[in-house]
Amino acid sequence: MSTLAHISDRFDPRARSDADEIARALDENLSGTGPAVTRYEAALAKAFGADEAVTASSGSSAVMVALAALGLQPGDEVILTPTCPLCTVYPIMALRLVPVFCDTLPDSFSLDLEMAERLITPNTRAIIDIPMWGYPVAADATAAFADRHGLPYVLDLAHGHAIELKGRFLWTYAQIATFSTHASKIMVTGEGGFLLTNNADLAEQARLYARFGNLGGVHFGMNHKIGGLQAALGLARLPRLFDDILQRRNTMTAIASRLDNPLLAPLPIVEGGQPNGLSLLVRELAGNGKSLVDHMDACGVPSDILEYGCRPLYQFPILAQYARSCPNAEALLGSIATIPVHPGIARPEVEQIVSALNSYHGGSI
Ligand SMILES: *Cc1c(COP(=O)(O)O)cnc(C)c1O
Repeated sequence: MSTLAHISDRFDPRARSDADEIARALDENLSGTGPAVTRYEAALAKAFGADEAVTASSGSSAVMVALAALGLQPGDEVILTPTCPLCTVYPIMALRLVPVFCDTLPDSFSLDLEMAERLITPNTRAIIDIPMWGYPVAADATAAFADRHGLPYVLDLAHGHAIELKGRFLWTYAQIATFSTHASKIMVTGEGGFLLTNNADLAEQARLYARFGNLGGVHFGMNHKIGGLQAALGLARLPRLFDDILQRRNTMTAIASRLDNPLLAPLPIVEGGQPNGLSLLVRELAGNGKSLVDHMDACGVPSDILEYGCRPLYQFPILAQYARSCPNAEALLGSIATIPVHPGIARPEVEQIVSALNSYHGGSI
């Protein structure tokens, strides 16, 4: 049973529209410490079952604030998978931390713990997992691994609002989890982000860092606050997120169940996991995903892989110095197409997507 089925109980049934929430915010102080932000943080904490929610101006700000809250210092090493976007690694570099790329398992974005074990040094200070396109990772195993090594476990859930694993929200496996509400994500405030934690000290440190250390001149910090208008939009949209996700999951199933092409298969879902339906991922079994994304594009079905030129991060020039062979990550990003399943996808688009997938004949050799 999905946790999402009961979540609407956590919302006031008289949910307000975007315009209502924004109008209410316009009558108040719009700053990042104003009442709209306070209400939004309370609503986020309640919706996701967290003790603390701290808002941020973006998902990458949330990553930076989380790592700063953990007390990481220049030169500290953080282990992460290279299948994430540059948006995760730039905040790491901004804090002068060292990204240490570790491979994924063959069929998911889960960290390869055997390789991670070999990468741990006396300077390792954190492990960051980044579930992509809403697919769960084996966060239970990674959390146990991190715990055994005395390392904090961070989840960058910019793609991962309300992913579930074994009856719990995925975020609950981490000490601290970060989210984005950028226009390309599953819940949209234009720009924006937040983090969730059950650790009151971490939340306190995060608030300090995101608010100039409260300008006391004792603690360093920056301004990573969200504004009142974005918070108002978040307040209006949060109650609709969970119904959206249920609809997205149905669309995923509708497409995947009609996939009838021996060259393709949906990416398997980690045991006990529930994706959030950001995208459906379909894999080219022979590994030539480039021709698959080209074919889908020609059929009018866009793929993030093409749009963002997704590849393991160390293949970008700016990260070349951190290169380390991650064959599973390379094969994974090289073989998938992302298929849109957002609430705008109705029956005609499902037909179009299914026929595009089933008419794929493989790449020319
Ligand atoms: C989009 C994204 C971010 C950055 O979020 P912004 O709100 O755009 O700063 C960070 N991490 C991942 C995995 C993302 O997909």
